[in-house]
Amino acid sequence: MRSAGLQRSSAARIGGAAVAMLIVAEVAVLLLSPSEEPPEPVPVAESDYFSQAELARADNYRSGQRWLLLAGLAVEGAVLVWVAFGRPAAVRRGLDRLGRRPVLGAAAAGAGVSLLTTIATLPVSLISHERSVDVGLSTQSLGSWFWDVARSAGITAVLTAGGAALLMALVRRFPRAWPVPGAVVVSGLAVVFVWIGPVVLAPIYNKFEPLPDSSRARADVLELGHEAGVDIGQVYRIDASRRSTALNAYVDGIGSTKRVVLYDNLLKRAARSELRSIVAHELGHVAHDDVPRGILYVVLVTPLGLVIARELVLAITRRSGADPASPAAIPAYLLALAFTALILNVPGNQLSREVEASADGFALELTHDPEALIKVQRQLARTNLSDPDPPGLYSWLFGTHPSTVDRIGAALAYERE
Ligand SMILES: [Zn+2]
Repeated sequence: MRSAGLQRSSAARIGGAAVAMLIVAEVAVLLLSPSEEPPEPVPVAESDYFSQAELARADNYRSGQRWLLLAGLAVEGAVLVWVAFGRPAAVRRGLDRLGRRPVLGAAAAGAGVSLLTTIATLPVSLISHERSVDVGLSTQSLGSWFWDVARSAGITAVLTAGGAALLMALVRRFPRAWPVPGAVVVSGLAVVFVWIGPVVLAPIYNKFEPLPDSSRARADVLELGHEAGVDIGQVYRIDASRRSTALNAYVDGIGSTKRVVLYDNLLKRAARSELRSIVAHELGHVAHDDVPRGILYVVLVTPLGLVIARELVLAITRRSGADPASPAAIPAYLLALAFTALILNVPGNQLSREVEASADGFALELTHDPEALIKVQRQLARTNLSDPDPPGLYSWLFGTHPSTVDRIGAALAYERE
């Protein structure tokens, strides 16, 4: 009876904290949405901008990739649930043995579980890679792809180990209140990673070169930046073509590492008006402070996210019998944090779509060239094999950008104004 009562009150606490977390996340989205309203998209039919063959090809590729994404999440979830609930027995015994040195043991457990999920999801990742090679999107050989996977598995394992050790130290020092210092640490790390990411992590995978002083692209970027009154930071070219034919550009970093990065594919293949349109969009992100905006979202939603993680871990460890302050509970922490992060990603993506629509609005105001934006959207969707009008539920859950038809629709609305 007592245990049933305990389970009920724990379920009520988790439910209450989850509702509070979603309310906080939605308020964060409202507060952090850019005040610059983009044009309301007019309805657009995808068949007006893409041939039936293009649509069929994109749909065939993307629908498969969507299922693979869900399959990968399911496999990762299953592995985490399995280990978190104390199975298999050999892993359980290994984790128990780590209890003698709790903080170091937590690091080992974190690295181990991280590698286990990479290995378990490898078949799904491999199929996904092979499909992108088949359609000509990825240009990477199998060997080079495996080297990428091995490197990111190593980096993720090291970072998970560090995070798990830090977490264990906090849990042991503040058994109930660890989400408070935890949220401070996560917020600090978010700033540090955005700051060092472009100079420490990104160069592991790609080569970055400042655009040559004499290049037309650099002159265009500087001129647009000047016109918009935006301090751009640096402008880099990334050798994306060694992996993919995709076209893209992004802004990254904070403070001294703030930069605009253009794919070499884009510099080679895009017409001048299209490149200007894309650069203007990226300048929109800089002008609207979208990188700090993203960090602020993390700062606002982390405290309640960690409270939920704590309650989930207590509920899991009551079932598994693991001590929540020992390395044996690390799989439970990883499961709880992954689950909370997955949920918080949904409002996070909602914010991202608004931020992207607003950057499109900025580009339209700066270039007065809706035709170029429409051309860019057509070209991006064609080369990246994007689904111009993906299923609504999928976009709502995972879409970081408005759909191609909505972005074209916004450009048309601007044109009509
Ligand atoms: Zn963008």
